[in-house]
Amino acid sequence: MTFIITTPLYYVNDKPHLGSLYTTIICDSIARYKRLRGEKVIFITGVDEHGLKIQRTALKNGVSPKEHCDKISGIFKNNWIEWDISFNKFIRTTSQEHKKVVYEFYEKVKASNDIYMGEQKGWYCVGCEEFKDNPDNSPSYKCPIHKKNLEWKNETNLFFRLSKYQGAIEELIQDPEFIEPKERRNEIINFVSKGLKDFSISRTNLDWGIRVPDNSNHTFYVWFDALLGYISAISSDDKNISLDLSIKSGWPANLHIIGKDILRFHAIYWPAMLISAGIKPPKKILGHGFLTREGQKMGKSLGNVLDPEILLNKYGKESVRWYLLKDISLGSDGDFQDRRFVDIINNDLANTIGNLLNRTTSMSRKWFNNQTPSISEKNDNEIITLANNSIKNYLNYLDNYKIDKASNEILNFATNVNLYLNKKEPWVLIKDDNNINEVKLIIYNVLEATRIIGTLIKPILPEFSNKILKQLGENDISNKDWEESLKWGLLPESIKLQQPIPIINKLDYE
Ligand SMILES: [Zn+2]
Repeated sequence: MTFIITTPLYYVNDKPHLGSLYTTIICDSIARYKRLRGEKVIFITGVDEHGLKIQRTALKNGVSPKEHCDKISGIFKNNWIEWDISFNKFIRTTSQEHKKVVYEFYEKVKASNDIYMGEQKGWYCVGCEEFKDNPDNSPSYKCPIHKKNLEWKNETNLFFRLSKYQGAIEELIQDPEFIEPKERRNEIINFVSKGLKDFSISRTNLDWGIRVPDNSNHTFYVWFDALLGYISAISSDDKNISLDLSIKSGWPANLHIIGKDILRFHAIYWPAMLISAGIKPPKKILGHGFLTREGQKMGKSLGNVLDPEILLNKYGKESVRWYLLKDISLGSDGDFQDRRFVDIINNDLANTIGNLLNRTTSMSRKWFNNQTPSISEKNDNEIITLANNSIKNYLNYLDNYKIDKASNEILNFATNVNLYLNKKEPWVLIKDDNNINEVKLIIYNVLEATRIIGTLIKPILPEFSNKILKQLGENDISNKDWEESLKWGLLPESIKLQQPIPIINKLDYE
């Protein structure tokens, strides 16, 4: 079984912002988790490069659209490498391979008699690349998302018979698994219930796009082209890339993770296009919320845009990952607050987890000849039950893509292990030689629990995980079966522990 997960193909009008980083980090942690569970994963990301907005941005910058796209696409790819994103495919919609798949797909939709020529009149938002309803019919009507004036368009375009798929889409969205979270699903159900209208899939007077083969003065509508990137990406490295090959290599996608603003395209247009072409729709669409900063919407005009590059240099990738994955409930809107950020990193990672590791390895080194203790028996049901419950909850959360809940489960477990240590007070017990076996067992248990924390946190914070496990004497981490290593009691006895060093630096308020 292949597990296919995708970020949206990001629009290259500008370099990555915090929202695109957020989506990509979510996908990365799920992809890492699935790989650890032994699944073959194809993690797709990439860029959506066509459309009027790109053409205009390039013109404004005094470069050709191609030059503009090469530059921004390069920035996206390099950014994801800097953030250590474990993507398997990076698709550019300007590639020849992608174009071939678009043509093959178009022929299939045409063969289903779902393409016709019609009149497109309406108010268009170039930012959304979407026609908007304009109930007032006023020329100054603005896009509710971009707050910019809409443009009146009156063109002869090719249309896709979306209305024909009313029943099929209704049936699809009835499945509670298809769209998450349920608030998003309800929005879509509500929208679909008003009746689906055909939509135009081509533009005239727009050069920067893929030419429609049988109507060469038309280019494909950017969404019709871009959505297909999820499929062309699959066989993009192959010499004989084709629609069929991509489909055979693992389609349908298991999970599209997107921002809630592009839900309609993914949950309605895209599945209908696929059904028309005789291809299965994706299995799940998960729409996450928007990010604000200190309670305010971020925007260029407000001057409060948070640049991921600055966050990376200032805090490091793992701190940012932890904040975004743990503190924001996946599916809801989230807020980025500097003070809260510093508090969370210091409390969760430096104190609760880092300090637990640090002080316990220090005690073990001091009392047991720089080694993990040797023990006569490994039974202490209190802590083993705690560990097993946390592991069970954690796996269950991640199987259901509840990353914030999974992260909090690790943190709760670490808090409980700290409580266990404080309650047992081995630093008091050690003063009496008669207690030595009890102290050995306590220290072993806490070290073992910390090893489990380090193992569990791997898909969320891969580097942090490696640092924890290394300090516990595990050197060859990559070859181990991850699930197997969650079993209690695998920490070797009497192995050398290195000098403890902080696994994460505390942050200061600025
Ligand atoms: Zn808009």
